[in-house]
Amino acid sequence: MALYGRVALIGLGLIAGSMALAMRRAGLADEIAGHARTAETRAIAAGIGLVDRVCATAAEAVEGADLVVLCVPVGAMEAVAREIAPVLKPGATVSDVGSVKGAVIAAVGPHLPEHVHFIPAHPLAGTEYSGPRSGFATLFDNRWCILVPGAADRVAVDRLAALWRAMGANVDEMEAEHHDLVLAVVSHTPHLIAYTMVGVADHLRRVSNSEVIKYSASGFRDFTRIAASDPVMWRDVFLTNKEATLDILGRFTEELFMLQRAIRMGDGDQLHAYFTRTRAIRRSIIEAGQDTAAPDFGRTGAAS
Ligand code: NAP
Repeated sequence: MALYGRVALIGLGLIAGSMALAMRRAGLADEIAGHARTAETRAIAAGIGLVDRVCATAAEAVEGADLVVLCVPVGAMEAVAREIAPVLKPGATVSDVGSVKGAVIAAVGPHLPEHVHFIPAHPLAGTEYSGPRSGFATLFDNRWCILVPGAADRVAVDRLAALWRAMGANVDEMEAEHHDLVLAVVSHTPHLIAYTMVGVADHLRRVSNSEVIKYSASGFRDFTRIAASDPVMWRDVFLTNKEATLDILGRFTEELFMLQRAIRMGDGDQLHAYFTRTRAIRRSIIEAGQDTAAPDFGRTGAAS
């Protein structure tokens, strides 16, 4: 059943595309309009019928919309909010999918009129692909979507939560600051470490490129997948979730030095105890249904 009459998606990449397809799958909106910055993306989206109506401007897309979702990089949110604010329908819900919440609330909130419900959100789902062709309807299935409703109207929050559930996600609510710290641990810092590890291999001229590729299945390959994520999106994440990322990076560096010392001192007991604890975390992730228990992430054998 349709939860919203008209929905406007600003940005037509991985997340917006997946939302459009997931909404269609469950018939959650009567009409989905969309806008992207470049004519090229708009033409691709129109060509594959990603949304019902592709608009040349964000303002045009949001006119008459009951739900507006900003699906652009975090650094582009403010300009979009400023553009759409004058044409937002009274009573509409304005949300976003940005990976950082504190900075988005600070950038978007002040531009929105009092007569809309601003309910920031973040689906914890993604791939290393981007653009209008990268979306798929099942992206949010059994993943979490975190809402950061603050003091927003409860009826509007429950409706948005129902939309995310109907798109396949589980829904939680959090304060923005807490969200940004949690995400710095589970996503932002791991991405930075992956970028660094791939950078190290790139700089290490003693190991030839062909060897890096040939033997990559030893673990390096998983870093390269993460490090292939969209550069604009991740630049914005680190520019806007600076404090939490630096906090977690500081802790990471301390642990790394501790392990470095254990290796230097030949302290096998310490290394063994540490790796035993980390293995237990992997088991809890599988038990929580957030990854496959198949060897090599299901790439090999019967699961492939
Ligand atoms: P994406 O595939 O790169 O798509 C971004 C879209 O935003 C493109 O359609 C782009 O249009 C458009 N855009 C960029 N600047 C714009 C502007 N100034 N005005 C209008 N449109 C603009 O990115 P994505 O992965 O969907 O990410 C979108 C948001 O979701 C980001 O805030 C990101 O933090 C968040 N997010 C991403 C993931 C993930 O894993 N990818 C997961 C959760 C949340 P053009 O193509 O025309 O430039």
